[in-house]
Amino acid sequence: MSISPARTGLEHLLHPDHVEQYVATMRTGVDHLADTLRRVSGPATGVLPEQAAKAVVDIDLDRPLGDVAAALAEVSSVYLDDAIWFHEPSYAAHLNCPVVIPALLAEVFVSAVNSSLDTFDQSVGATFVERHLVRWTADRVGFGPDADGVFTSGGTQSNLQALHLARDRAVAAGADLRTLRIVASRDSHFSVQKSARLLGLGDAAVVTVPTDGDRRMDVGALGRALALIADAGDVPMAVVATAGTTDFGAIDPLPEVAALCEGYGAWLHVDAAYGGGLLVSPTRRHLLHGVDRADSVTIDYHKTWFQPVSASALVVRDGRDLRHVTWHADYLNPHDAAHPNQVDKSLQTTRRFDALKLWMTLRVMGPDRIGEYVDAVVDLAAQVGAALDADPAVELAATPQLSTIVFRPAGLTEADAERLLPEIRERLYASGRAMVAATRTDGRRWLKLTLLNPMATRDDVLAIVGAVVEAGDRLQEAVA
Ligand SMILES: *Cc1c(COP(=O)(O)O)cnc(C)c1O
Repeated sequence: MSISPARTGLEHLLHPDHVEQYVATMRTGVDHLADTLRRVSGPATGVLPEQAAKAVVDIDLDRPLGDVAAALAEVSSVYLDDAIWFHEPSYAAHLNCPVVIPALLAEVFVSAVNSSLDTFDQSVGATFVERHLVRWTADRVGFGPDADGVFTSGGTQSNLQALHLARDRAVAAGADLRTLRIVASRDSHFSVQKSARLLGLGDAAVVTVPTDGDRRMDVGALGRALALIADAGDVPMAVVATAGTTDFGAIDPLPEVAALCEGYGAWLHVDAAYGGGLLVSPTRRHLLHGVDRADSVTIDYHKTWFQPVSASALVVRDGRDLRHVTWHADYLNPHDAAHPNQVDKSLQTTRRFDALKLWMTLRVMGPDRIGEYVDAVVDLAAQVGAALDADPAVELAATPQLSTIVFRPAGLTEADAERLLPEIRERLYASGRAMVAATRTDGRRWLKLTLLNPMATRDDVLAIVGAVVEAGDRLQEAVA
């Protein structure tokens, strides 16, 4: 006897009997997205938090709409109509990239098959797809045959895991937790500080060293910091070098940093969350020279590899170091497990098959194409930087190194900048015309453009700067 799906409600489950429903639903969704995309006319609508919240909180989740079309219409009102669009050439705020279509195709399979990458018996080929991509990435880094790694949810998790491994290596060698020190430049990512807290080392365990005139870690200062740590009887457990700082795109001098780490027996972690895309650049791979001397490297595919969130990896030079995150559960990965597994290498248990997105990208487009996108945004930043350098209306904080531009309207006092720059940013957002980010360095406020859109042109980006300068003029006139 067959049970009517309509009566049981089981028709919502993905199942061979429900393939028509699945295909119809997915087509409706893809069409809805396509219609939405065609109507997008700017990176934002400028909706304010109160309005955005109101559209959501009034919805009674105990009263389902019962059909897909109605639910999609509602998704538009709570989300899509005012979403931020990273493909818009006037979106230049954070490290968000437009995404490549092959990766979106992969997402269909990632979520529908719903493999979990913890064990072979939940993933089969997926385990080896991930391993093959880790191996390929390690080859690009220049690591040898002992290298290994794992996909993670992002640079924050990759950095945490790297420092976890470094900590446990130091502890295994007999160090006392209270003596462990992590050295990083003042421009390193805040996840280094957060990791120190999570790892029970405390805020004081992170020693920050200054940067040089190019905003790269000052190697002399690193040498002195390491000497002071050793003189105090403490242990320099790790040095974090950044390959592409979030604000300035600076790449720390990796060979010199590596040489110091080797001298002090410190774990070298290279945070290439942002600069990792240079691994596939046809013209700029040399900027990462020395990365192969790291013990571990963070790469965010969801930044400079044009992948949807989440897609990141931690790659280590010696795969045996990953044992520090291994725990054997009798029901999952016992000591005598017959099959390979990835859970032994990960902080996560159930884990998405994000690797398939990168796989599909490489198999359809190839690595060079991704690298050309990286080159395009770095070239774009250089062109815009040159134009702004010659523009008396703009002050540049630094010459662009990767694809960020830190700037502000010229001639502002610090008091003006404190007041005006946040207002300029708000005005731009409210107008829906453009989105820029903000930062602060040496106590001075700046605006920041992060360029990750290979389709944006020099004129597109100069128009954003023009809108910034214009908004600044207006605001100052209003005060005068
Ligand atoms: C973005 C970034 C991170 C954090 O990565 P998430 O993927 O956002 O967790 C770490 N380090 C650097 C240098 C970054 O730019």
